[in-house]
Amino acid sequence: MIEIIGGPELRNRSYYENLYNDICQKELERIKQVTDQLSISDEELKVARKSLSKIYTEQGKKDTDITYSEVLNLCQFTNFLTGLVWKQCTQKEQKENKEIRIKEWMERDKKRDMLIQKARPPKVNCSTCGERSIPKFKHLHLDLKKPDRVIFFYECINKCYRAFYFDNGEFYKDSKSVKPFKCSKCNSFKVDEKKTKAHDGTIYFIKECLECGEIETVKI
Ligand SMILES: [Zn+2]
Ligand SMILES: [Zn+2]
Repeated sequence: MIEIIGGPELRNRSYYENLYNDICQKELERIKQVTDQLSISDEELKVARKSLSKIYTEQGKKDTDITYSEVLNLCQFTNFLTGLVWKQCTQKEQKENKEIRIKEWMERDKKRDMLIQKARPPKVNCSTCGERSIPKFKHLHLDLKKPDRVIFFYECINKCYRAFYFDNGEFYKDSKSVKPFKCSKCNSFKVDEKKTKAHDGTIYFIKECLECGEIETVKI
């Protein structure tokens, strides 16, 4: 079994509920921001003035008594109502979509867990010495624009080369930047490493040089 780094993707339901609530909350905050900043155009002032004029006439009051602050208040009230309706529509939508969205997320994550568990490492030879490369661990490779994939981390049995490959054998473009662990004391590439996880979830490698015995900790 090749060790899986990260995951599992599928969490308990409350995780997705909280996630959904957070997203909804942010959406409502955005609506509030937008409606708070709504400016009032001359056209809107004119329309408000007209409405007030109608009310004044109906009440037998003089049209010329309408003050600017009354017109402005009416515009602000209209904006307030617009925001209120917008907020209520959004809240209704959020309530209706909740179950669908949570189900989608949970299914997606379940599929991801299956994908990583089932993925088998391709055969890879070291591009430096031609010897066999050993798959050390695998993790999910998530790219919003592409389907989910699994990536394997390889190390040459002679420890001269490290690279990432996808499960279909495709070379991962960033793998050239993966430098082999080199002993900082004697510069030997014959370094053994053990993976360890700190309390905060950070993953570390403890490197032990097979030549000189130097031990180092590397964060990944
Ligand atoms: Zn090699
Ligand atoms: Zn060394």
